[in-house]
Amino acid sequence: MARARLFARNEQIFRCPVCSLPMRLGAQWSLACAAGHSFDLSKDGYVHLLPNAKASKYDKELFRSRRLINGSGYFAPLLDKLADGMKESIVEPSSAQPLSILDAGCGEGSHLLYLLRKLEPASQQDILAAGMDASKPGIALAAKGNAPVIWCVADLVRSPFRDRTFHMVCNILSPSNYDEFRRLLAPGGRLVKVIPGPDYLKEFRQALFGRPGPEREETSGETAALFARHFPGMTQQRVRYEVRLDGQHLEAMLRMTPLSWHAPEENMRRLLTQSAFAVTFDFIILWSEPLRGSSKSPLR
Ligand SMILES: [Zn+2]
Repeated sequence: MARARLFARNEQIFRCPVCSLPMRLGAQWSLACAAGHSFDLSKDGYVHLLPNAKASKYDKELFRSRRLINGSGYFAPLLDKLADGMKESIVEPSSAQPLSILDAGCGEGSHLLYLLRKLEPASQQDILAAGMDASKPGIALAAKGNAPVIWCVADLVRSPFRDRTFHMVCNILSPSNYDEFRRLLAPGGRLVKVIPGPDYLKEFRQALFGRPGPEREETSGETAALFARHFPGMTQQRVRYEVRLDGQHLEAMLRMTPLSWHAPEENMRRLLTQSAFAVTFDFIILWSEPLRGSSKSPLR
């Protein structure tokens, strides 16, 4: 019920993912546009706005692994850096307008919830938080619990939010759609994207494939260059540290890492016999300049 009221209070941020008309929350707790496209709020308090849902690689078990790892503090140094950068951007703490944040590709929601816990005490404004992901099992897990977040299963290519809705769009280790991000950002708003750095999980690469080099087709440098083409004036920060995974967390970490999906079975088995394993967490945070526009925004 609390989640339904949150959707009702903020129905003006939505637009129909099919025809782009504004949507309203109707009596039956469904978001509907004037053309008759309608999307029900689930009993767990999220809305499924993906008209043509596809099966994805991300199953329930995978998101349980992600929740276990994300909830174990391994990402804290990264997320603290992110929260610090966001706090610096809050320059009008007395503004009556809520500070609106979208996590685009939020998965099971742990990172967004962590950021909110950091930002809420620092902000005198209300914070309107939304998390969207194309994976239903991810969002279903995120929506359990009672955090005041607008959770949506939605497609990044046609996201269900109106133009200029968010002061901050985060995109953490997840694919981007820069045109959509630009459309969604309010004047003065910023995009922040986290990508793996060159050394991310290099010990896994060594153990699984016998070589430390990056397996990703797209290197971090190429991703950063693409970001900068869409958002000139980009700045970047690198966050690199080592974490020690115990046996249970090692298995979960491997399960959620695409790297392991193509690894030789035998190497996987050998790695899983370890009782603890140290891996490098290496991230690059890409910040856009505040979007130029009216000065009404609470962000610089
Ligand atoms: Zn519609």
